[in-house]
Amino acid sequence: MRKGQLRFRGVAAAVVSTAFFAVMVPSAVAAQQGEPPRLIVSIAIDQLRGDLLDRYSEAFTGGFRRLLDEGFSFTQASHAHARTSTAPGHATLTTGVYPARHGLVANSWQHRRGMQWQNMYAVGDDESPILGFENVDVLAGRSPRNLIRDGLPDWLHALDEDARRVSISRKDRAAVPLGGRNSEHVYWLLPEVAWFITSTFYRDGYPGWLRDFNDEVMPEIFGAPAWESLVPEELQHLARADSATYEFDGVHTTFPHVSADENAPDTTLAQHYVWGADRPVADNAVMALAAVALDELDLGQRDETDYLALGLSTNDRMGHQHGPFSQEVFSILLNVDRLLGDFFELLDDEVGEGRWIVGLSADHGVVTMPEYAREQGNLEAERIQRDSVLQQLSPMVAEALQGGGSPREVSERLANAVEAAGLATTAYTHHSYTRGEPADSFAVLYRNSYYPGRAWDTLSRWEVDLRYGQDDYVGSRTGTNHESSYWYDRWVPMIFMGSGVNPGTSDEPVYTVDFAPTLAGLAFIPIPDDLDGRRLF
Ligand SMILES: [Zn+2]
Repeated sequence: MRKGQLRFRGVAAAVVSTAFFAVMVPSAVAAQQGEPPRLIVSIAIDQLRGDLLDRYSEAFTGGFRRLLDEGFSFTQASHAHARTSTAPGHATLTTGVYPARHGLVANSWQHRRGMQWQNMYAVGDDESPILGFENVDVLAGRSPRNLIRDGLPDWLHALDEDARRVSISRKDRAAVPLGGRNSEHVYWLLPEVAWFITSTFYRDGYPGWLRDFNDEVMPEIFGAPAWESLVPEELQHLARADSATYEFDGVHTTFPHVSADENAPDTTLAQHYVWGADRPVADNAVMALAAVALDELDLGQRDETDYLALGLSTNDRMGHQHGPFSQEVFSILLNVDRLLGDFFELLDDEVGEGRWIVGLSADHGVVTMPEYAREQGNLEAERIQRDSVLQQLSPMVAEALQGGGSPREVSERLANAVEAAGLATTAYTHHSYTRGEPADSFAVLYRNSYYPGRAWDTLSRWEVDLRYGQDDYVGSRTGTNHESSYWYDRWVPMIFMGSGVNPGTSDEPVYTVDFAPTLAGLAFIPIPDDLDGRRLF
């Protein structure tokens, strides 16, 4: 049972009833607040930009359909930090604070220890080896040790020690932050063997049901030799044509995608599994494991509120290769629509209708392929090779350092040189984040991504962060990316559904730091009073 549940429930009811007249979307608040939900489901779809559900809406018949029809959608939700990537996005959705405060400023960064800088992966931790793979030189350890704020599962745990907290994703840098700082079951995929794994940080042994799942179910799911499109012919026009030279490797750009064609001719099983881990079978595996965990752990089926976080990563893996308007991304989203539709039905059966709540959002968006943007009339859109930018930056660092002086003087000299050479639209010095008045409105986003001693950008070790042009894609020869501070990378869906939420939409600007406190509010879980986000209902 929850500590002080009755007392707290009274407080929550009072807050809700007074807030009823003040909140911006009162229609979203159900008139009757009943029991807390038995299960909180937090879903993050990697790289799901804010326009994609709307664009493909007429094709959805499953979970997305239900969320769009029965849930409450914030259509103008966005991340309010500059470095829009996976680890920061998932951590922000879970903790209700900006990367500047939860600490996962990027997927990886240069980490200062004393006078030394060393590479750091956001969820890397060699003191927490992977369970069953104790040699960290072979397989690096993982934990949330770099995450310095509690998140929704931790707030739940503080309220109720018996609450079960589970997080599952294809990616470690999604599963770990979604699990907060002390979830019991946190699993991600080891592609080469197609197993879900965890680290000694979380557990000292794999549960039998997970071993069975890895041994028996995973080879079946990952055995699929090809990826076929799910897009009905009459709806293909919602995405662009299937083939474009700027997709993937420029050759394998059309359906069906066949493992044996896209791998070397003598594909090993490990190569085939790695291929599958970037394709929809990985989402199928996450959702299949979620269903097993639901049963084995009786999630939402006891007299407690439990937490289940799911990270669906395929949209990002293939979105990078084929772009947001590709037939591939369209097909991935149709698959996720089906998977979520089935899962929501399972929740209705196992947990009970009206006994669970779900929040769905994304860790970041993506920039439209520059070539396609040009075809659509944006002649400013340009693909710039990242390597050539980096090559030009290194002599500037050497020159700025040669001039001597304080770190602040060096950073100002370096920022001026980069801007004068036209290599970036703006070069922000770290000092400028704290002097009181940000240089421009983007600087606020950069400040929200700034954590001293965690240098995530090319020049951050020298206290400078770069903003490239809005129409410039700085990256590789094909495909696309995110990581910028522009709207296309920050804009994400944010939808809530379940007990306490009435259907509706709002175009109020809201932020991803609001995601966790809103879910907590719907589950009557107290939140820290120093969050950057707030309850939306
Ligand atoms: Zn990505």
